[in-house]
Amino acid sequence: MIENKGERDGMLGNWRRTHFCGDIWKYSYGRTVVVAGWVHDIRNLGGVAFLQIRDRTGSLQITLEKSTIPEIFDALVGLSRESVIMVEGTVTENPQAPRGFEIIPGKVKVLAESAVPLPLGVADKVFAELDTRLDNRFLDLRKREIYSIFKIKHEILDGMIRGLHGLGFVQVQTPKIVATATEGGTELFGVDYFDNKCYLNQSPQLYKQMLMGAGFDRIFEIGPVFRAEEHDTVRHLNEFISIDIEMSFADEWDAIDVLEKVVRIAVERASECRNEIESINDGRKTLNKLINKVNMNIGVQNKRIKKDNQRLKAAGEELKPLLKPKEKYDALDIKPIKKTVLSYMDNYNEEEAKKSGMPRVKYEECIDIAQRKRVAVEFGDDLSMEAMKTIEEVYPSYYFITHWPTEIKPFYVQPYENTPEVCRSFDLNFGSKEITSGAQRVHDISLLESNLVEKNLDPKNFDFYLAPFRFGMPPHSGWGLGLERLMMVLTGMRNVREVVLFPRDRYRVIP
Ligand code: ATP
Ligand code: MG
Repeated sequence: MIENKGERDGMLGNWRRTHFCGDIWKYSYGRTVVVAGWVHDIRNLGGVAFLQIRDRTGSLQITLEKSTIPEIFDALVGLSRESVIMVEGTVTENPQAPRGFEIIPGKVKVLAESAVPLPLGVADKVFAELDTRLDNRFLDLRKREIYSIFKIKHEILDGMIRGLHGLGFVQVQTPKIVATATEGGTELFGVDYFDNKCYLNQSPQLYKQMLMGAGFDRIFEIGPVFRAEEHDTVRHLNEFISIDIEMSFADEWDAIDVLEKVVRIAVERASECRNEIESINDGRKTLNKLINKVNMNIGVQNKRIKKDNQRLKAAGEELKPLLKPKEKYDALDIKPIKKTVLSYMDNYNEEEAKKSGMPRVKYEECIDIAQRKRVAVEFGDDLSMEAMKTIEEVYPSYYFITHWPTEIKPFYVQPYENTPEVCRSFDLNFGSKEITSGAQRVHDISLLESNLVEKNLDPKNFDFYLAPFRFGMPPHSGWGLGLERLMMVLTGMRNVREVVLFPRDRYRVIP
């Protein structure tokens, strides 16, 4: 028993964990340890039983011999999977055990028994649809490969925060309940706020800019934003985490430089998560096998449908659609971005950039690429997914799109002074996925006011925002990065819901 300061009562008493399962290795052989976790699986062979205990770092084998420890044997073999236990025992080498060692228990404590049956298996290798998994997310999150996604998220956030801190950015918090729409769109959730109608903020944009007027110089915020978009896609959520920065005395190229650095740090930190990458890959191996089985079944069903369709065709009736096989997952291999092109303006070498860094690509070139692939798009259009797919063929990794048409960008985006139809706005993409939008902002109050009117917004609603511009606003730039989009790219997940603990989409607010 591991001693604590003083006697403690309650269920835990003086029991405390000494090791996570994943932290026990050769060096612990012969030692007494206390592990705590969930009963992953029990194999009872009569005279001996093997119990796998699991925590967030992995699992290990507890070996129970009926003849030597009859009470402990009896206390544990009848437990349901996912019950919570603590075990004190000796780490003993055993080449037959899954990790080359086992724990021979001296004392055990059952802290909570799990009900049966489980609505979603944790140890079972059974295919479950994403919706079923999200309905039972607390169980889904117990799987190590799922937990690993969130551990990677934690690591990259830590890296990005440190990176921004190192670049002189100060972390701030701005209100999420607001009276005005940031961009005047209709994509806002209303909130009853005492006697008034307010909204959940769709972006910290206006507040970030006000802080530039306040002299904060370089700030960042990591917080939720809310968008009442009626999308039902694999990359849109109605609540997501935005990493926002704003910096003074800086143009869009300065903001791009900061973004490139921060993303590079995030990728590097993710690439260092070797255990997590390995557990995600173990999960994918199992998943791919399950998908094979599901697809075999789909194949059988499709044969039947094809047969039916022959008959339906002969009868001139409507044909049944074939079932779509499930896509398998590639192994995850996160590699740091080696070289980058930080100085675009003077000595930008496009070939070099395409090979090694994050190229800066003009919007015009994107239109050109899409048009050459016969996508119907022209200067002034937003880049549709169809257009983005063609650009992805040329730029499959991270790249910036710059020089956007002013007309399709928000009122606060600064146009180029000599070519006002093009603006100082940029996106960071990975292939066809947008990760970040940013720009140099307008800091001239009269241009801002006329832009608002042009976008059919009432400057009166923006009084609080416009005031700082009248009393000394420096030129400034910034961006907003969708954390979940970056996580999708890093972990190779196809659905953004996979990288959110409890996603909010049009159809889901529970759990
Ligand atoms: P998209 O065109 O992909 O819908 P957007 O241009 O409307 O995005 P911005 O207003 O530029 O989005 O938001 C900044 C960033 O926030 C985006 O680059 C993206 O990474 C992320 N983002 C935007 N909308 C969503 C959403 N609905 N769900 C998840 N992330 C989002
Ligand atoms: Mg955008």
